[in-house]
Parts: sequence; C-alpha cells; structure tokens
Amino acid sequence: MFVAFDDTDSIQSMCTTFLATELIKAMRGYDLIGLPRLVRLNPAVPWKTRGNGALCLCFGVGKGDCRMIGEIDGLPVYSYERMYEDANRRNVLETSQRIVAKWSRTSEGASPGLVVSTVKPAQRLYWEAVRGIVEKDDTVRELQRIGADTFGWEGGRGIIGASAAMAWRPHDRTYEIITYRHPDRWGTPRELDDGSIKEMDLRHTTTFNNFDHQTGRRAISPHTPCPVLFGVRGDDPNDLMAAVFSIRSERPARWLMFLSNQGTDDHILRTPPTLPDRSYEVLGTVIGTPRTITGGHVIVPMSIANGTLECAAYEPAKEFRNVIRALRPGDRIRAFGELRDEPRTLNLEKLQVLETTRHIQKVSNPRCPECGGPTKSIGSRGGYRCKKCRTKTDLPGVSIEEVRGIAPGWYEPPVCARRHLGKPLKRMGQYRHES
Ligand code: ATP
Repeated sequence: MFVAFDDTDSIQSMCTTFLATELIKAMRGYDLIGLPRLVRLNPAVPWKTRGNGALCLCFGVGKGDCRMIGEIDGLPVYSYERMYEDANRRNVLETSQRIVAKWSRTSEGASPGLVVSTVKPAQRLYWEAVRGIVEKDDTVRELQRIGADTFGWEGGRGIIGASAAMAWRPHDRTYEIITYRHPDRWGTPRELDDGSIKEMDLRHTTTFNNFDHQTGRRAISPHTPCPVLFGVRGDDPNDLMAAVFSIRSERPARWLMFLSNQGTDDHILRTPPTLPDRSYEVLGTVIGTPRTITGGHVIVPMSIANGTLECAAYEPAKEFRNVIRALRPGDRIRAFGELRDEPRTLNLEKLQVLETTRHIQKVSNPRCPECGGPTKSIGSRGGYRCKKCRTKTDLPGVSIEEVRGIAPGWYEPPVCARRHLGKPLKRMGQYRHES
C-alpha cells in the first residue's frame, strides 16, 4: 500500500521527512517495502515552503532481500525488496491520517495532503510536477481513476506533491541518509564537528554537496530549528552509510535512508524558455558585457533560439559570479537555470562554456608617425591627427588581446548555493573549474 504526503510543515518548523519516521514507527505491524522516497518537485513553484519535497512510502508484508535502512528510537528499521501481501487499507488510512494530522503545521500556513493507494498514479503526474505547474483538479481526476483515497487539510494543496511523489518511477536516482535530533534538543545549536564532515567529504567520493572547501562551511545541516540533525547524499547506499557514521556529532535519536531524485536534473526542460517558474537548459551566445547590479548580482545578456535572454548569477552564488563576470560577447554557452518572471532572467544554476572568443581591447591611440606625439581621433570618418604637429595618420590604435579569465568547460555554484535537484558536476563526471 502506497502512502504519500506533502505540505505538512511551515517555514518556522518541522520537516516533512520527519513524518516518515513517525509513520514507520506507527506502522510497526507492517514491513516497509523498498526505501522511503524523498521526491523533490519544481523548485520554482512560488508557494513552496523550502525545498519542495514530498514523501512516499510503501507498506505490506515483505519478501526477498531485507536490509537495515534506519533506526528509530533504538529500534532498527528494515526494508524488503518485494511485497508478499499488501497492508490492510483501512489500517493504513487510519494510521497515516492520524500521523499527518498530528504533525502538520496547519496553524502556520501548511496545506497538507495525504494519498493512499494500491497502485501508482500515471508517471506524467511526476514529470509535470517536477518541471511545471500542476492544477489540483488534474491530480484529483487521476487519483479518482486509480481509486486512491485522499485527505486534505486547509485546502489540501499537498495532494499535488503527494501524488507526484507516488507517481515517480526513477530513471536516475540518488540516496540520502537523514539523521534526527532528540526532541529535547530541537531549536538548540547543533553539535556537529566540521572537521569530520570535511574528512568524510574527501574520503567518501560517492557522496556529494557536503562541504564547501573554499569557505570551510558545511552544507549538510539545515538553518531552521527543525528536527533534522544532518543529511548526507550519495550514489552508493553502502558508502553513504559509512560516510554518515564517520561524522562526529551529538547522538541522533533516529536516522533513515531515502531514495531520491535529488541531484538528477529531472527539473530541467530542454525546450526554448517561454513560461516562467520552470527551469531550462538553454544554448546561446553572449551579446553584451556582464554587469554587476545592486546587491552584487551579476547579469549577462545572450541571444538564444527564440530571442534574447538575460542570465543572472545572484549574490548567494558567491564565487560562481566571477565565472559570469568573465564572459565576453561572442562566447558560446549552455546555461541551466530557472526562468523568473519579474525581472525576466534565467537564474543560473550551472553553466557550460562551449567556446570562448578572442577579445581584443584598444588601449590607446597611435603615436604620430612624424613627431611621435600623442594623437586624437578625427571622428567617425576614421583616422587620427597629431595633437602637436597636426599630421594626419591612418595608423590603427594600440590594442592588446585580453587574457581570458575563463576556459571552455563546466562551472557550478558552491555547494551551499545549489538546488536539491541540480545534478552536481561530480555526478556528471566533470571536474569543477575553480573561479
Ligand atoms: P519542505 O521542503 O520543507 O518539505 P516544501 O518546500 O516541500 O517544504 P511544501 O510546504 O510542501 O513546501 O509546499 C509545496 C506545495 O506546492 C505543496 O502543497 C505541493 O503539493 C505543491 N506543489 C509542488 N509542486 C507543485 C507543482 N509543480 N505544481 C503545483 N503545485 C505544486
């Protein structure tokens, strides 16, 4: 039996993934089939709280391979490879309804949705929700078609995300182990040893987005007073487990491994950018010199298949902005980012420089061929006249070729400024150019 939920937390508190641990605890009579799924959806959805994540779990009587994938309040959590028998629908409904109602932050603006079903919704619900904007009516029609049970609180907008999470069939996938704090520590500073996180990042090479070596800052713990202690992401479940247990920290009360679409680029559309609040891959040519605007954001215009587009690297992207500043007219680039409506910019999250142009800069007028004095430009007809002896000359001005501060290759923002869904260059087999 699949159970999915979303939109349970507020900006101030809680975390939807914590509900997964509560649900597993409450469903101890059944086995967990497969891994709990943490599915990120369109990061450009205007009404998301933080990372636009939804959860889906499957319960029943398990068979096949069984492995330990977590621990909740001292008890191990096992996951089975396959299902022998489905869970009782009424049981699952009652328990999940109670858990979602208990832990949702409806008074702080959450609009929770819960979906329970024996079959998954059509795959398109996932693709539409990860790449576009979905109407709730459309989701409800599909849920009726598959005979799902749904519950919504405060408008139940979470049904959209919950259904999309249930509809996900992974083609690319990653894993995340999230650890949770003892309730008596919630809201207090997290005890985490940064040195051990740095070491873990260097040693466990199948993990990603852990540590910013340039600033010495960790990226694995949230900044909110939620129950999460830290989360580590990676490509290999075994290496991930070893990585997590190598971190020195306060003792977690729970930990759980999730299967996820994080770090897959599933949100990227490969069509000409038209509609805002979506993310695109765009090929283009730089057509102007980059400029830095108030707030430290860097903007560069480019021409693309369907017109022109300004690309923006915002202040939080830190040193990635130097890459954008180094672009020059004529450079060919492949840009990845979210199209914003107002101002209409492509908010860059990754960049491939395909080709750089030679950039010649005039540094001064020619010297006079007669007396060697300085010259000044005659005007639009071209040529120069000596300021001393008034001799005219057609000599060219003195130019130098700019040493380009950028080479063809891939560039990405530092780990602290990355999107959950963005595919890190590390996962693409590309090394990162330091800017
Ligand atoms: P957190 O990451 O802390 O769990 P969140 O960022 O996931 O929070 P939510 O509170 O879950 O934010 O809010 C996202 C809301 O947007 C949910 O109600 C979800 O159903 C809805 N939603 C998600 N993706 C789409 C989409 N593509 N189109 C329309 N609605 C969406």
